[in-house]
This record gives sequence, structure tokens and C-alpha cells, in this order.
Amino acid sequence: MIRYDMHIHTEYCGHAVDMDVASICACADELDLETIAITDHIYSHNGLPVVTAIRAELSRVRHNCRVIVGAEVDVDGDFSDGRLVTDSLDALDYVVAGFHYVPTVGNYPLSPDDCTMTGEQFLEVWRTALLGIVSNPGIHTLAHPGRLVAASVDLDAHFEQVLAILAEAAKVSAKHRVAWEINELTGMRLNGYYQRQWHRIFEPALEAGVKLVYGSDAHSPTAIGRTVFTEMVLANLPSDCLASPDEILAWKKELEP
Ligand SMILES: [Zn+2]
Ligand SMILES: [Zn+2]
Repeated sequence: MIRYDMHIHTEYCGHAVDMDVASICACADELDLETIAITDHIYSHNGLPVVTAIRAELSRVRHNCRVIVGAEVDVDGDFSDGRLVTDSLDALDYVVAGFHYVPTVGNYPLSPDDCTMTGEQFLEVWRTALLGIVSNPGIHTLAHPGRLVAASVDLDAHFEQVLAILAEAAKVSAKHRVAWEINELTGMRLNGYYQRQWHRIFEPALEAGVKLVYGSDAHSPTAIGRTVFTEMVLANLPSDCLASPDEILAWKKELEP
């Protein structure tokens, strides 16, 4: 059993019902989790007040588990260099990079029909953005690696190329100590075949020395700590490959001057 959950949203994001901080903490305690990270979306350069509000709520709540206040900061969809929507990350104890939008176009594709680029064109901007994200030492964790590409291109035609780009990104990620997340919600966006293939996303990361961390990406109380897809991915990876929250935070700290 995984005793933590490092990716949880709150109702401040506008699409997570019943996710006030008190309810989140109550759920985490009910599940006997040791550590959770509240990582709500930061959509723009002025998204930090949400973090202040979450901290204020948290200060009024009794909880047994350790609560880390971070955020899932959007990658800026207007660019292909992987920059985040804000560089003001000091208020965050845990920074997750959320790569949700087609670079330069800026839309959120649900299927390849929503992607206005060819597969090759998409992979080119996806690659440069991905390399930019994992070069940013201010980021602790790359959220849901592979989710955007799975929604944007025909994976049957491009999966090997996707894995090759991820292998390239993994080496850069190891250098800048950006962990990769095994994200439970991503499993809901994949068909059964790619659910069973998804561990291959993480193999090049482990080979390069990148740490792996679990996050549910919960937008509802029942999703907190859920690990059905995560366990499926982990079953095909070395048994000790999942890092703890402290290992992720310490790994990054070692990099600081
Ligand atoms: Zn996300
Ligand atoms: Zn998320």
C-alpha cells in the first residue's frame, strides 16, 4: 500500500466538487495516509492567491497526516519551450508541472481530433516543450508524463517515437532532478492496451536515474489515494522503484547551492 498521495486538487480549481481542505484532510486520515500534497492548478501568473487561501484553510483544520502545500503549475501553452505560466514558485513547497495544452496552439485536446497538427508536427513541439520542462530546476515533478501526447496523436502510429523522446527527456530530467509522476487519473484516459503498456513510459526514466512518485490527481474525495491503475503500472516495474515524498524533496534540495 502506498501511504501517500502527492497530487490532490481542491474546489478552488472550479472543477473539483466537495474538495475543501477539511474534507481532503479527513479523507487522508481515514485512509491512514502519512503525507499528502495539495497541488491545485495555477493557471496563470496571478494564480498564487489560491495557495494563500489553501494555507489559511489548512491552518484551521486538525489533521494527522502531513500536508504539503504545493501546486500544479500550468506549462504555458503559448510557447514551445516548456516555460511555466509563472516563475514565482517560492510560495510553493512542492511544484508539479502540468503539461496540458498543445504547445503554441494552447488548446486542451481530448482526442487526436482536437489536435490541429499532424502527429509529426505535434511531436516536434511536444519534444521541445518537454525538454524545457525537465530542464527547469524549480520543478519537483513532471505531472502525468505522456498524458498530453496520448490525447493528441494516434499512439498506435507514434508510440515508439514517443518512448524515444521520453528517453531523451529522462536524461535531462535526472540532471535537473525533476521526478516523474505515476498518475492514477491518466489510466482513465487510456484504453486497456495502453494501460498495460504504460509502464514503458517509466522504464527510460528509471534507467536514467529519475525518481518516480505517485499522485492520484484526485478531483473528488473518493479518488484520494486511489491506486488501481498505479498498481498495474508498478506491477511491471522493479518492486522498489517508487520514491517517498521525503526522497523527492531531498533529491531536489541536494541540487540547491
Ligand atoms: Zn494535470
Ligand atoms: Zn492535476
